Amino acid sequence: MTVTIPENARMIIDRLEAAGYECYAVGGCVRDSLRGIEPHDWDLCTSALPDEIERIFSDCKAITLGKKYGTIAVLIDSEQYEITTYRIDGDYSDSRHPDAVCFSTSLYDDLMRRDFTVNAMAYNPRTGLVDEFGGMRDLEYAIIRCVGEPEARFSEDALRILRALRFSSTLDFTIEPATEKAILSMKDSLSAIAPERLCSELLRLLCGGNVSQVLRRFRSVIAVFIPEISGTFDFEQNNKHHNRDVYKHIVASVRNIAPEPALRTAMFFHDIGKPMSRVFDKRGVAHYKGHQTLGAAMAEEILRRLCCSRLFIDEVCTLIRYHDERLMGDTVKIKCLLRDIGEQRARELMLVQRADTLAQSMYMREEKLAMLDATEKELERIIASGECYSLSGLAISGKDVLHLGISSGRQIGELLNLTLDKVIAGELSNERDELLGFVLAAAEDEK
Ligand code: ATP
Ligand code: MG
Repeated sequence: MTVTIPENARMIIDRLEAAGYECYAVGGCVRDSLRGIEPHDWDLCTSALPDEIERIFSDCKAITLGKKYGTIAVLIDSEQYEITTYRIDGDYSDSRHPDAVCFSTSLYDDLMRRDFTVNAMAYNPRTGLVDEFGGMRDLEYAIIRCVGEPEARFSEDALRILRALRFSSTLDFTIEPATEKAILSMKDSLSAIAPERLCSELLRLLCGGNVSQVLRRFRSVIAVFIPEISGTFDFEQNNKHHNRDVYKHIVASVRNIAPEPALRTAMFFHDIGKPMSRVFDKRGVAHYKGHQTLGAAMAEEILRRLCCSRLFIDEVCTLIRYHDERLMGDTVKIKCLLRDIGEQRARELMLVQRADTLAQSMYMREEKLAMLDATEKELERIIASGECYSLSGLAISGKDVLHLGISSGRQIGELLNLTLDKVIAGELSNERDELLGFVLAAAEDEK
């Protein structure tokens, strides 16, 4: 068992101790250190009050936004360290916010208010590990367990329900039975939680290594704040391409893609439009025409509700809208795709299509994968070749068209787009004179 405290955090601890206070590294950094993983930040807790912390670090740049809650963030070597006064959270009348924050001089009080045993350990180089709730044992057995009585803890702050799922996914820990029972019985209280807090935990959950297990076992919890997803539960697909119901297919596809928030979110919602777009043909085979567009619209509404950024929503929804696009290694189709969504999104789409395919049945799998390989290869060839697929790659610009005597902005745009379509289709070569000749003729035709 080793916790190696970095020099700057050590300096903070030493200074507070020299001033007569206690100070410990606490929470995620202690947990991760003990797991042999480099913590991404070092949170410290102390018996000193916020005013005293500020005074002791008056020579450092400090951020006092969280002072009301006891937190002073100190910047050292442009790294931020959060130093928080020991706290007891007051009553929670709304499952969201403590009604009052009381400062304390006892480390035990501060550890007791924390969510899970593995997050409720503190470490100080002189005293060693402070583990009042069996966090070390739960770490060894890879268990998420509430500090204290699960129901009481979840009724104080319902977000902890989703945090338990998040840690189970990211740490690959199982949730202890009494904690699990309380999660399932109290899940509805999640609807009282601010959407952005839910969203941040959900995205982290989706990026965890144990995501499939968590999504399968706790689907009803996710459905509390994303009710639309429940339409996919046990929804049989009734066609040869699938051997799983829609939700199980979704879960399998999430696991098949890199743990990037936008990619994982795109997979989680990629088939959400299926239940509402199913039609059966005469032979009883199901088809899902338009499920991509419907799915993108549904995902957009959900992600807006969860307060995601415009950029993130656009990325996710573009991937959903195009996830079923059959590009077949075809140069023109791929150039059209590049024109419409750009290089980065097109590359991501390849990952999405592969993750989707690998979560389908074995029916034609080899052929589908070979097609994807060919598409990816052609995509990379086009990008490397410098061949034109966008307005900015055309050998003429809006200015050139203007010089031909066409002054309407709308008409210039239309002519350039038409020219680009012809270049992509291989009907024109991307050479200035040829393009100018084409534009002139096309403009004449329009008159
Ligand atoms: P990460 O590595 O994801 O940052 P973390 O454990 O540091 O993990 P944070 O969300 O940063 O997670 O929270 C820091 C610590 O604060 C937690 O370890 C836990 O002790 C405590 N904590 C955070 N949120 C809550 C909560 N809602 N209820 C109780 N304790 C909490
Ligand atoms: Mg943290």
